Amino acid sequence: MVTCFCGMVHGIGRRGFLGALVAAAVDAQAPAPASAGPANAALIEDLVAGFGHVSARHDKDPNRYLLARSMAPALVTADDIMEFDLDSTPVDQRGRAVYLERFIHGEIYRVRPDVRAVVHSHSPAVIPFADTKVQLRPMNHISGFLGGGVPVFEIRDVAGPASNMLISNPTLGHALATTLGPHPVALMRGHGSVAVAQSVRHVVFRAVYTEVNARMESEALRLGDPTFLNDGEAAAATKTNDGLVDRPWELWKQRAMGK
Ligand SMILES: [Zn+2]
Repeated sequence: MVTCFCGMVHGIGRRGFLGALVAAAVDAQAPAPASAGPANAALIEDLVAGFGHVSARHDKDPNRYLLARSMAPALVTADDIMEFDLDSTPVDQRGRAVYLERFIHGEIYRVRPDVRAVVHSHSPAVIPFADTKVQLRPMNHISGFLGGGVPVFEIRDVAGPASNMLISNPTLGHALATTLGPHPVALMRGHGSVAVAQSVRHVVFRAVYTEVNARMESEALRLGDPTFLNDGEAAAATKTNDGLVDRPWELWKQRAMGK
């Protein structure tokens, strides 16, 4: 299991499964929002270890969030973490490129006060479940958080028939957040997924095991008619797992930081 944990995070974090997001410059004329001040150092450290496409709500102001500037996730350091308001306008851009899809983060933080961290991923294993009517459902106890159902966002309903598939404005971000609703994970048809949680550690755990579960489910469907965790098992397993996240995290973080 340990090998599985670190191997997956390594694969996702350092080799780009978490997504090749597109950079775009914010309108330099827009007034910059005020900073909430320096974020907690441990939070920044988790964010750096948690890979480029993870964001965290600012610990000093719920109306601010932290996300790396647009760059290769493996190269992110603390200095690359930028602060945004919930409109996804950077507080202090200083010429740095920002993610075109940052609206995923801002709009989810706006409608989900319980969420303190978000991961957007282009992980390939989930795409079959986003593009067909086959539902992503929990295959094992570690993936129990999928038990409440995994909604699928259809961008065509909002952006029309010829979009570039990216969440590139607040309207699309809000629509995605609405599809996510109270769930921990939503799939995005033809695109990837988004996971949310109460901390950076929990959200990385969920992003990793959403991908793992998708691979397991695809395999089980090839073999036959799988039995999934029922709602009671999923809820009980999630409660247990949520208390154990710190254990794999320290290992993941060491691997991600190259220690
Ligand atoms: Zn994307």
